[in-house]
Amino acid sequence: MSNKKIAVRNLRLCTKDCLCLYVCPTGATDTENSIIDPEKCIGCGECALACPSAAISLVPADYPEQQPKTNIVISALNDQAQRKSSTEKAASQIAALMADCGLGYLLEAMARSERLVTEDIMREAGYMLPQSSNVRQLLEELVANPPTPSFPIETAKKLLKLLP
Ligand code: SF4
Ligand code: SF4
Repeated sequence: MSNKKIAVRNLRLCTKDCLCLYVCPTGATDTENSIIDPEKCIGCGECALACPSAAISLVPADYPEQQPKTNIVISALNDQAQRKSSTEKAASQIAALMADCGLGYLLEAMARSERLVTEDIMREAGYMLPQSSNVRQLLEELVANPPTPSFPIETAKKLLKLLP
């Protein structure tokens, strides 16, 4: 694993004042899609220092392998994620029937909260890194056996093409 770092931009924090474009010595920040070009980035950190919104971080170009977990822990986490997903679905469905009222807003917030917790559990269960082989395997399984008729197979296929 190399010590190389690359810059990544958090689009939610970016206020688009373009300072990073002026200071970058390689033009890596000047892209059409707002994603800093990892091929051009040399990890100098000038953009992160210049950014007034703290929207840029330097991250390792190559991540270490995720730490392994025992099957019993993974199984318990998956069960927990399943329960959280069911609660999210129920809260969303009831919220949809109660539009524009306090209880509806509360249920929407609850659904979002359950989603966040589920995502966290899934990261803990071994899907921390989108580049990991675990994620690839999960996506391949979902494409082969979609969990619901509305599962976005084409999007999952596109993701599989993008993942190294
Ligand atoms: S300097 Fe920071 S806020 Fe400005 S465009 Fe770049 S990332 Fe966005
Ligand atoms: S770390 Fe350096 S090379 Fe990479 S995008 Fe920022 S300024 Fe450009």
